[in-house]
Amino acid sequence: MSALTIAGAIAGAAYIVAALLFILSLAGLSRHERARGGVVYGIAGMTVALLATLWLMISDAWGAASGALGLSLLVVAVVIGAAIGLWRARTVQMTGMPELIALFHSFVGLAAVLVGWNGALHAEGIAPSLEGIHRGEVFIGVFIGAVTFTGSIVAYLKLSAKMSSRPLMLPGKNVLNVAALVLFVALTVWYVITPQLWLLVVVTALALALGWHLVASIGGGDMPVVISMLNSYSGWAAAAAGFLLNNDLLIVTGALVGSSGAYLSYIMCQAMNRSFISVIAGGFGIEAPAKGEEVTGTHRETDAVSVAELLTSASSVVITPGYGMAVAQAQYPVADLARRLRERGIEVRFGIHPVAGRLPGHMNVLLAEAKVPYDIVLEMDEINDDLADTDVVLVIGANDTVNPAAAQDPGSPIAGMPVLRVWEARNVVVFKRSMASGYAGVANPLFYRDNAQMLFGDAKERVQDILSAL
Ligand code: NDP
Repeated sequence: MSALTIAGAIAGAAYIVAALLFILSLAGLSRHERARGGVVYGIAGMTVALLATLWLMISDAWGAASGALGLSLLVVAVVIGAAIGLWRARTVQMTGMPELIALFHSFVGLAAVLVGWNGALHAEGIAPSLEGIHRGEVFIGVFIGAVTFTGSIVAYLKLSAKMSSRPLMLPGKNVLNVAALVLFVALTVWYVITPQLWLLVVVTALALALGWHLVASIGGGDMPVVISMLNSYSGWAAAAAGFLLNNDLLIVTGALVGSSGAYLSYIMCQAMNRSFISVIAGGFGIEAPAKGEEVTGTHRETDAVSVAELLTSASSVVITPGYGMAVAQAQYPVADLARRLRERGIEVRFGIHPVAGRLPGHMNVLLAEAKVPYDIVLEMDEINDDLADTDVVLVIGANDTVNPAAAQDPGSPIAGMPVLRVWEARNVVVFKRSMASGYAGVANPLFYRDNAQMLFGDAKERVQDILSAL
């Protein structure tokens, strides 16, 4: 066996080990208690994969001028990428994570487009019998990559509020999406038969426009599904690049990310009572959102001392956190409050909505960070039936996820989305800074209910005030 084949065999074995570590990582990340182990497996898998790739490049470079160039490019790319990654990961706020992840997805998409173009421009050395397959791979890779690229950029713009979260409603938007898919299939067949560069230019432009349109058409409330869907697309884009580069690890890893992302999107659709197909098809079948019922009334304002009194006289308290808790970084005083109330013999539990915050699992991460015991952190379905029997619900920076309009106003843009039925409790205290609506831009009648009181201000400061009053 030549030195090169041995090097390839060793790298191949390392890739299998890395793929297994990634599977263990996904398994670990599916449970709170094992999540830390899952992250360690992921880091180990990525280290093995990087070392194996480096090893392959070094053995390739041995004695060949072009190999040495490849190696130096790899080292430069890894150093620059690692430096930017380290810097961003260290400086990003927890609330900025979703935007950062959306940007990362866009890079995966862009990489798949570049790999596809490279595959088209340097197709020499491919056996004639495999040329058709190669061209199909190029087209599919470029298409998925370009959709992921612009889709992720729109998601980034929407999540960072640089673009309105309202859905874009072009006339005949569903027809446009279907026409784009049909055109893609036709162009692929054409390219496989007669490969011409202009066809690749057209499909790249088509996919870039489709990605933009698909995500721009999704309304604020459905964005969580889009985030996990783009995660899935980025996986398929990586897998497509793996086929072109003949890299088994990229195929396996891409398929893992693609299928787990698709499954997560499906679970989120179920949790939000949305049609999976409708959301992945850019809001297919969803008409221009109605404004929902006009919300009027007067709200009641309260202060920290009164809330402290209310809490000490309660025997059961449920805390439902939302995006505002993340913005205020209020999880530490909130955890402190829960501990202090429990020490007084008051039952305290947390109710977590599946899409609270801006990232799947956002609230769970914050509460775990503040060392809130897992056994008092319940999912929406586990706590909803107990809310009617609860003395006080503290809504800390949550809005859409506790909006009664979702359950009671069929004309509301978030109609049908299951919510935490906090209004059924005897008392509800809403922590927020103003009467503004949440991410979906829908007014919230909860604030005007007789049993609801508003505690205005930054959530962290207000919880600290309550702690002082206690
Ligand atoms: P919302 O975005 O509906 O509401 C958050 C509330 O927090 C706002 O009304 C805001 O009111 C308040 N707030 C902001 N900053 C502070 C602060 N410093 N102190 C106190 N309050 C503050 O949050 P929810 O968690 O209830 O709902 C999440 C929404 O985001 C849903 O619509 C969901 O679909 C969407 N989404 C979720 C994703 C996910 O994966 N989880 C991904 C993308 C979108 P005010 O300005 O008055 O203070």
